[in-house]
Amino acid sequence: MSEKTNIIEQSLKALLEDEDFLPDLKAQTRDQAFKSLVSILSTPNKIHKSFLRIALENGTIVRIPSFRIQHNNTLGPYKGGIRFHPSVNEEEVSNLAKLMTLKNALHEVPFGGSKGGVVINPKDYTPKELNLICKKFVQYNNDILGPDKDIPAPDVGTGDREMDWMMAEYKNTHPGEPYRGSFTGKSIINGGSLGRREATGKGVYFTFRYMMHNFLNDNKQWLKKTDNIFAKTALDHADRKLTMAVQGFGNLGSVGALEAYQCNYMQNQIVAVSDHNVMLYNSDGLDIPALNSYAKEHDGELPTTEEELAASDIKATVQNRDDLLELDVDVLMLAALEDQVHDRNMDQIKARIIIEGANAPITEEADEYLSDKGVLIVPDILANAGGVIVSYLEWIQGRETQFYKEEEIYDLLFDKMKTTMDTILPQFFGDPFALRQNCYIHSVMKLSTVMFRQGKLY
Ligand code: GLU
Repeated sequence: MSEKTNIIEQSLKALLEDEDFLPDLKAQTRDQAFKSLVSILSTPNKIHKSFLRIALENGTIVRIPSFRIQHNNTLGPYKGGIRFHPSVNEEEVSNLAKLMTLKNALHEVPFGGSKGGVVINPKDYTPKELNLICKKFVQYNNDILGPDKDIPAPDVGTGDREMDWMMAEYKNTHPGEPYRGSFTGKSIINGGSLGRREATGKGVYFTFRYMMHNFLNDNKQWLKKTDNIFAKTALDHADRKLTMAVQGFGNLGSVGALEAYQCNYMQNQIVAVSDHNVMLYNSDGLDIPALNSYAKEHDGELPTTEEELAASDIKATVQNRDDLLELDVDVLMLAALEDQVHDRNMDQIKARIIIEGANAPITEEADEYLSDKGVLIVPDILANAGGVIVSYLEWIQGRETQFYKEEEIYDLLFDKMKTTMDTILPQFFGDPFALRQNCYIHSVMKLSTVMFRQGKLY
């Protein structure tokens, strides 16, 4: 997975060169502070690696590598999902933990950043074995987890079932202690929040819609940014629907696509969606509600053959999964895994706006290449924070034995994302940087100010 450390360095540099930033930090210590901050933010605080010993149902004993990497807790307890995936590794988990620190700082969520990974394909294990894996993960990380220490949540390959199992094990191993806030993304009946499952997808689409709203209200600022392909694309919207392709049809992509399909504010035409098997394409627009119902009934999978499509009455053609990235569409929503757009396909990308629903779906090299071409990339830490924002609300509910209504959750979620964008967009208009860099500058500004106030930069 690509390292975005350079952007952290560039952002810190831009920040510390501005004399109005932390004026109390004397010139001679600014250089020192820069070096300390680069090293603090580019390396995790702690790496916990364990081999989970599991007896499979057939009697075999396996040892499964797993990680919990705690990147930074300056702003609050460590927070971040646990990923079950066959290719997850230490470097990837470490980078994802760093993104959580930056994401929480950006949206003023009072958490630090961490991430977990278990090297398995969950489809290869029975529910009983997965339950054991979850319990073992909690046992092996017993001392470092907790509502005020480190709070996991779902990520790729995990969901409310796994969080329920893990919270139950945490409760067993910490008798008499508060446990509801130890995990978020739990099922509703087990203390989860309404809207948590949909939160990331809804937030991703909301971010895009809000940018369009901002543009349509007053486009002078947007038009001033040079090579502003977003502005040109957004202007087209007056005459026609914007075309969109969505990579990934899991929790994130299916909800993001549905939000785009049902949007009353603007009209989108979702011409393609893909999952790990196929791409489905229809130049007149896909019936996203029908595809959602199909996936629900088929273990999350899209139809893979023309026959399956015909039987389900969905009008589309089946095409090669990876071709989706190269379609000539206005908007590409990346909702699968990291490193999907890279040096080998970046010059084939035709979309004018890319929304990062997944974490780090574009490598650093491709990011630079596409930004230089004027493509507007809405970065992961800005767009996909809906999950952790509603996790925060779930955590509060766990402490206060209070329960928000679904509308209240969405109001609080959208309000938080809107506040962040109202801060970031004026900065973006006023400086020469790409949107990602503006987000990073804002996050490292928050983190370094708090560290300075806590006396950590002397
Ligand atoms: N895994 C999600 C993310 O990458 C959610 C994390 C959380 O809720 O703690 O943002």
